Amino acid sequence: MKTIKSVVAKIIALLLIVLFTNCSAQKNDVYNSLMEFTNTIKVINTHEHQRTPSELEYSKYNFWTLLHKSYLVADVNSVGTKNLTVEIINKSSLDEMWNMFGEQLNYTANTSYYKHFLEGIKKCYNYNEPVFTKEGIELLSKQIAAKYQNYESWFDECFHKFNFETMFLDQYWAPHNFDIDKKHFTLIFQANKLIYDIGPGKLVYTEQNSDFNEFAKITGVEKINTLNDYLAFTDFMIQRAKQNGAVGIKNSMAYGRSLDYENVSRDRAKELFNKSPEINKAEEKELQDFLLHYILDKAAENNLPVQIHTGYLAGNGNQLENGKPTKLNNLFLLHPNTKFDIFHGGFPWTGEFVALGKMFPNVYLNLVWLPQISKQRAIVTFDEMLDCVPYNKFFWGGDCHLIEEAVGSLEFGKQVVCEVLAKRIENEQMNDETARKIIRAVFSENAIKLYQLDE
Ligand SMILES: [Zn+2]
Repeated sequence: MKTIKSVVAKIIALLLIVLFTNCSAQKNDVYNSLMEFTNTIKVINTHEHQRTPSELEYSKYNFWTLLHKSYLVADVNSVGTKNLTVEIINKSSLDEMWNMFGEQLNYTANTSYYKHFLEGIKKCYNYNEPVFTKEGIELLSKQIAAKYQNYESWFDECFHKFNFETMFLDQYWAPHNFDIDKKHFTLIFQANKLIYDIGPGKLVYTEQNSDFNEFAKITGVEKINTLNDYLAFTDFMIQRAKQNGAVGIKNSMAYGRSLDYENVSRDRAKELFNKSPEINKAEEKELQDFLLHYILDKAAENNLPVQIHTGYLAGNGNQLENGKPTKLNNLFLLHPNTKFDIFHGGFPWTGEFVALGKMFPNVYLNLVWLPQISKQRAIVTFDEMLDCVPYNKFFWGGDCHLIEEAVGSLEFGKQVVCEVLAKRIENEQMNDETARKIIRAVFSENAIKLYQLDE
């Protein structure tokens, strides 16, 4: 009797093991097959700040250079011991760098910034360690130095290998440069400068400026004296950007001020403009607020969606509250014909971000950078987006300065999307066909539609 019981128990245990192994294998199968499918999509990356080494201040390219130009530098500095700077990288050997920053780097091994950076390095170079080590960094630095001998070809190689179709380029460092490499990039008009510079006192468009020269030739306005002149110049710049291929307008002003843009009347703006530069900070803000509203109307007239940075700010030390997504609420109400693409999941206010996308037909939700900031929050947020908002309104972007980090970011973006969708398929909340439609929408089709890339 005892033996029969024990044999039955053994059979049941075996059956359970087989069943369990099968289940988890199937789970991985769903995820893996979604990832495989995602890898076949030519990705429209809706936000990048890609630079070329010739524009940057580094005298050499190694692991530490790439780290310094990545988001991970904020975590390394956040450890609170010592700041990693260009000067230190330029003058120090790899040994010295590891002695100064190895421990700090190790402390960041748990963060999403660290892991997506590592992911990008692994995809682009021959690097298989689970973490960055002193020896690994030495071997890696040799590979990096070799590839950066000809960055243009290295960039192009990675761009195609990882299946990018185009990257939207936000040149915050050169907001009015419209002469970009169109083989890889699509122009976004960075509007911060135009908004910050309003007022005759702060006017930077002198006779040396080719944009202003062109404007003067067409309009006969040789100096900006009135608000009307400035608005005419604003119109001119938007047109010029559009003629040069811009598909949208970008606002990342949360880095410098709050996102609450009051509705200021034209008369009040005129009064302040005429008083400028003898105006105080609050009045300066009113002028900027007025111009932003004006630009939003022009964006609607010109069919240019407006991308807005919301939430957490890159780097170390700033006013977090500046980027709270609900501060934009009045803009969405006052400009129903303007299309808003709001960025970064509004982290840490991801719930606000999702709710705004649900409430407003003209508000679109961009996951850009969120998977790198916090992969876990990106998973929760994307799940919430699927619960609340139609999927024609979702986008992905990288938001990086060099190609390796963009590659790591794309991998994280794919992992987040596929993990959430795979779970829904396993729970029978969604079928495979819908999941694949959503993947295509997030990584390509939605951006093609909203930004009219087919035209
Ligand atoms: Zn950005």
